[in-house]
Amino acid sequence: MTLFGGSVPAAALAQRLQDLRAELPPHTRLLAVSKGYPAEQIRALAALGQSSFGESRLQEATLKQQQLADLPPLDWHFIGRLQANKARPVLRQFGTLHSVDSLALAERLARIAAEEGLSPAVFLQVKLRPDANKTGFSAAELRQAWPRLQQLQPLRPIGLMTMAPLGLEAGERRGLFADCAALARDLGLPELSMGMSGDWREAAAAGSTWVRIGSALFGT
Ligand SMILES: *Cc1c(COP(=O)(O)O)cnc(C)c1O
Repeated sequence: MTLFGGSVPAAALAQRLQDLRAELPPHTRLLAVSKGYPAEQIRALAALGQSSFGESRLQEATLKQQQLADLPPLDWHFIGRLQANKARPVLRQFGTLHSVDSLALAERLARIAAEEGLSPAVFLQVKLRPDANKTGFSAAELRQAWPRLQQLQPLRPIGLMTMAPLGLEAGERRGLFADCAALARDLGLPELSMGMSGDWREAAAAGSTWVRIGSALFGT
């Protein structure tokens, strides 16, 4: 995706937001994934009451956060692969992290968050189906790491995040989302970050509490 590529006119953006709000079940919140789209689109949605935005590249997000510094604070979520050497600025600039995919990363984040006096909400990213393009805990790895993860103050593990591999049938995606929901329930985690533009309806039906929607909102 090109940075600041084509994006919809403001009226269409407002209509899409309204349509999404009308269709999302009450337990599901909208994370507007603004990666690749300009700060002006974020500003337009913020004026309509959308306050939670997802970004996946630190440099791009930093630029937009500076461009939007005149607004009341927005609720920024980091959803991209989190490189260890970016942990500190990511913690400073994002209150919620969706992509904590290893115990080593969680330990590093906890140490730096403590130094910074921050207590970020974190989603543990899980990979419950084979997928060469994604990272994440397997169910077995997560269960094994869970006692330790719960002790990693000041991190606040609130839920699980997952992405469906490309090419799954709708029924297979529903099975994956149901498995992720069951695992979260088992661990006592209340939140689920599941569902993107192409599969958010299935994820919401499976109990997702955050759908991460980019192109269906901003795309041309
Ligand atoms: C880009 C991205 C999204 C949004 O994808 P769309 O298909 O454009 O809705 C959601 N989650 C993650 C982790 C992403 O990187």
